[in-house]
Amino acid sequence: MQLIDLIRPNIRSLQPYSTARDEYEGDLGTFLDANESPFDNGYNRYPDPHQKRLKSLLSPLKGVGKENIFIGNGSDEAIDLLFRIFCEPGKSNAISIAPSYGMYEVAADINDVEMRKVLLNDDFSLPVYRLLEAADADSRLLFICSPNNPTGNAFAREDILRVVREFPGIVIVDEAYIDFSDILGMLPLLSDYPNLVVLQTLSKAWGMAGLRCGLAFASAEIIGYMNRVKYPYNINVATSEIVERLLSEPVLQHLKVIKVERKKLAEALGDFLFVKIVYPSDANFLLAKVDDANDLYDYLINNKIIVRNRDKVALCKDCLRITVGTPKENLRLIEILKNYEEKTADY
Ligand SMILES: *Cc1c(COP(=O)(O)O)cnc(C)c1O
Repeated sequence: MQLIDLIRPNIRSLQPYSTARDEYEGDLGTFLDANESPFDNGYNRYPDPHQKRLKSLLSPLKGVGKENIFIGNGSDEAIDLLFRIFCEPGKSNAISIAPSYGMYEVAADINDVEMRKVLLNDDFSLPVYRLLEAADADSRLLFICSPNNPTGNAFAREDILRVVREFPGIVIVDEAYIDFSDILGMLPLLSDYPNLVVLQTLSKAWGMAGLRCGLAFASAEIIGYMNRVKYPYNINVATSEIVERLLSEPVLQHLKVIKVERKKLAEALGDFLFVKIVYPSDANFLLAKVDDANDLYDYLINNKIIVRNRDKVALCKDCLRITVGTPKENLRLIEILKNYEEKTADY
């Protein structure tokens, strides 16, 4: 299958919006081309539609070429663009593991694309054969989140690669949590697999959720289509400046703290009688199966501790997803859970 055959015909022939700044390279000059205000307040000029400065920072950091990087308004922009580039509304379908990140299905629904959800195996491993079985001639996208939200585990690389090799469309590996994992992600393999798209984000380990900056990595051809379909000025000047500054402030120390806290929290949670399972985690959260998730969730809320109730999610009955906080926040959680244990033991 050639990539071009997967692209929607209207996108193949799309004439993208040409910005005034596409025609002139260089920062210095008298810019009378974009109807901006000429009075400098730091933000009076349109941003670089190609985000060249940000990409030149990210390229060595991630070990991929600038032409292989897409920068979006959160990963969600990249997810939506992939639907718009590869899926014919009302005709194409997409495949996703389940349970997983809810945005894949929302983006599918918005684009009128059928989403086929394939349950993970009971041990949360990747259902390689069932994923491939779910595909037909109209399947265009297949989403694998690794480490997976909300189960927390990363999938075996060989399992992911079997899907990438055999699925006749685009495989998206969402690595939003890869920085918290000790496993190697898929970026080093990018050039071997023309149908692979890797998503990462600055929202989690890098601490920039409020800035909305998501990254996609793929072949220059796929990135080219994403750039043509995106809004021309999708990353604003203020975001770019702050991201550039924060990328130079190392987060390694924070990552170490989160990993140590994850281990301590997992052990502490496992000691409570009402906790049945604390699943192993490669991410900055823990999934815990408890006696009564709804009851515990309400108790925590009443104590002003907010976690994510995943009770209604497939394979996650009575499970709460708990983000690893600061050492102090985690101690507070444990303290409240001790009270809960005393309370429930009374009955
Ligand atoms: C949090 C998260 C993201 C990040 O989304 P942004 O839009 O970049 O903030 C992406 N994928 C998964 C699975 C996530 O949990």
